[in-house]
Amino acid sequence: MMEKITPNNIDEILSAEIPDIEIDKDFHDIVSKNMIHGPCGSLNNNSPCLSEGKCTKRYHRDLLAETITGNDGYPLYRQQSTEDGGKSIKLKVLNNTIDVDNLWVVPYSPLQLKTYNAHINVEYCTSVKVIKYTCKFVNKGSNMAVFGVENTTASNNEVTQYQRGRCISSNEAAWHILSFSIH
Ligand SMILES: [Zn+2]
Repeated sequence: MMEKITPNNIDEILSAEIPDIEIDKDFHDIVSKNMIHGPCGSLNNNSPCLSEGKCTKRYHRDLLAETITGNDGYPLYRQQSTEDGGKSIKLKVLNNTIDVDNLWVVPYSPLQLKTYNAHINVEYCTSVKVIKYTCKFVNKGSNMAVFGVENTTASNNEVTQYQRGRCISSNEAAWHILSFSIH
């Protein structure tokens, strides 16, 4: 945290662009399959990310010729336009074939994508707020949905619901066992 991060440092480990199909077709296919957001908005009104017509994940983002380090520790990643040499792919959305360019690429680590061939969003965070992030992740638990079908006159047993529905990670289990406070 003493030394300032340069855009080059970030470009070495992260990307938010479609790889050149001529250079690495497998990698290009992995990014095309896993790391394209939406498209949403006017291209697809049914996208689940939309709330009142706006994308809750803030896509699509602005095209940028170079990565710039942000004020708050979040950089803005290089996302070149097709005029500047950025790549695009054809995608089928609601029976239309559209051109998707770097605007829709979710930031990723090339190394991780090549290893796991899965959707893995990676962001560079360098502010002191990283500490808050780390603590939050230890404590927040997994995403989940719990539902049941039952007689509405039956009593609502919250203890049983909690026991059935709570799924905690080993980190979080240790945190609770050691009686660390959450807030
Ligand atoms: Zn969206």
